[in-house]
Amino acid sequence: MERKGTETGLAAMAASYEKFDPAAYLQYNYTPPRADFERKDSVVPWKLACLHRAFNEADVSGELLVDIGSGPTIYQVLSGCEVFSKVLLTDFLEVNRQELRHWLQDDGGCNLDWTPYLQHVCKLEGRRPSECAVKAAKLRQVITDILPIDVHQSQPLAKDALPSGGADCLVSCFCLESVSPDLSAFTRALGNIGGLLRPGGHLLLIGALGESYYFGGPDVRIPVVPLTEAQVCESLKEKGYTLIRLEVYTLPEDMKVGVDDVTGVFFAKARKN
Ligand code: SAM
Repeated sequence: MERKGTETGLAAMAASYEKFDPAAYLQYNYTPPRADFERKDSVVPWKLACLHRAFNEADVSGELLVDIGSGPTIYQVLSGCEVFSKVLLTDFLEVNRQELRHWLQDDGGCNLDWTPYLQHVCKLEGRRPSECAVKAAKLRQVITDILPIDVHQSQPLAKDALPSGGADCLVSCFCLESVSPDLSAFTRALGNIGGLLRPGGHLLLIGALGESYYFGGPDVRIPVVPLTEAQVCESLKEKGYTLIRLEVYTLPEDMKVGVDDVTGVFFAKARKN
C-alpha cells in the first residue's frame, strides 16, 4: 500500500515536469534581480561564492565531478571545472540536456548568455573578467558527457556511466527537493545519489528552504517538498554523509518575484562516510 502511494507520488512528480520550459526557467531564476552581479545580496552571487569556496578547499579533490540534475544551467560547475579534469552533466529531461548541448557546442542556440557568470567566477578566482573565454573553453574541454538521470532509481545513471569506484565529488543544486513528493523520497534520493560517490568523496548540495512550489514555465507549477535546515542535516546523516558545513541565505523581499515561494537557500558541504 505504502509502495503504491510512493509510486503514485513519483509518477505525479514526473508528470509535473512534462511541460518544463528551460527558457522560462532560466528567465525566472537566472536574470536580475536573482542574478544581479552588482548586488552583494543577490542569490546567484551567493551560490557562486559558496561553490567557489568549497571547490577551492584542499579536501575537495580527485578526477571526476558529477552534477546531479543539471537542468538547463552550467553555473554550478564553473568553479569545479578548474579542479576536476572530468565533469559529467546529467538531467532527467531531454529539453534540458538539449539546452546544455547548445552551450557545449556553442551553436548559438542557448536561451541564456552565461558570459556574466563566467566573468563573475573569473573575478572570484582572481583572474581578469576578460579571461572568461578561456574559462568557457576549459569547461567545454572537461565536460565528458551529458547523461539522463533519475534520482529515484537505486541506480540513477546507466550501469557503466561511471568508473566502478564512483565519482570523486557530486554537486547538486535545487534538484532533490524539487523532484521529490515528500521528505522520505528526498532522503531516499540522497541515498541513491550517494551510491554514485566514492567513500570519502564530497557532496556539495544547494537547495531551497521552505518552498512548496515553483514555476517551470508559464502555468507549469511544480510541487516541492518544503525543507528545514534540521531536516537537511538529518537526511544527510541518515544516508551516511558527514556534514562539514551548512550555510543559509535568507531571501530578501525584492527577490521574491512570484515564480516560487522559496524563503531561503542552503548550501551543504558533506563527505560520504
Ligand atoms: N540544477 C538546476 C539549477 O540549479 O537551476 C536545475 C534545478 S531544477 C529546479 C530541477 C531539475 O531536476 C530539472 O532540471 C529537472 O529536469 C530535474 N529532474 C526532474 N525529475 C528528476 C529526476 N527524477 N531525477 C533527476 N533530476 C530530475
